[in-house]
Amino acid sequence: MRILLVEDDQRIASDVSRALESSGYIVETVSDGKAAWFQGDTEDYGAVILDLGLPQMDGLAVLKRWRANKRTMPVLVLTARGSWAERVDGIDTGADDYLPKPFRMEELIARLRSIIRRSSGQASPVITAGEITFDERQMRVTLRGAPVMLSPLEYRLVAHLLRNLGRIVPQHELEENIYGHDEMHDSNALEVLIARVRKKLGAQVIETRRGFGYTISEASP
Ligand code: CA
Repeated sequence: MRILLVEDDQRIASDVSRALESSGYIVETVSDGKAAWFQGDTEDYGAVILDLGLPQMDGLAVLKRWRANKRTMPVLVLTARGSWAERVDGIDTGADDYLPKPFRMEELIARLRSIIRRSSGQASPVITAGEITFDERQMRVTLRGAPVMLSPLEYRLVAHLLRNLGRIVPQHELEENIYGHDEMHDSNALEVLIARVRKKLGAQVIETRRGFGYTISEASP
């Protein structure tokens, strides 16, 4: 899943980005309000982490513009410590949750997972499809109760399909959520990756819909 991280403090940005990547997310970082507004308005992200104090355009103004333009991705706002006014403004403007600075990385990731779940109408952090379960808190996929070892790319593939259970996910969307913008991959890399995952989870689990995309269904074998 692709996350947009908007933070002008370089150190916080790199710490958060590293923590998110090791939790299986693809992270794009921008450090000013204008760039943030543009990215969030033109690209699809699974969620946004938005600092409020930003150069060029403040975070609340960015969020206001996104929401006015019907951009509905879940947004976690980072506020200054003790600033209840910022929290109230953030929530009034359409933030899904907030986190005061300084924060623990574990809490940031837990809150992020929770707003992503809520935005997809999913109550539990565990997703089940047939004999497969996916627990995103532990980043663990099991088949008939036994843990399945997945590479980071395989994990992102399975996680994205399971978060979109029953929906046919177009190839370009899958690629964006597996490779990000900058990672190089050739045109048949996705098919190779899917073949590897089928070997681990069973040939029937990921269904190919020629010309449309890929899907895992709830009653997956
Ligand atoms: Ca700031």
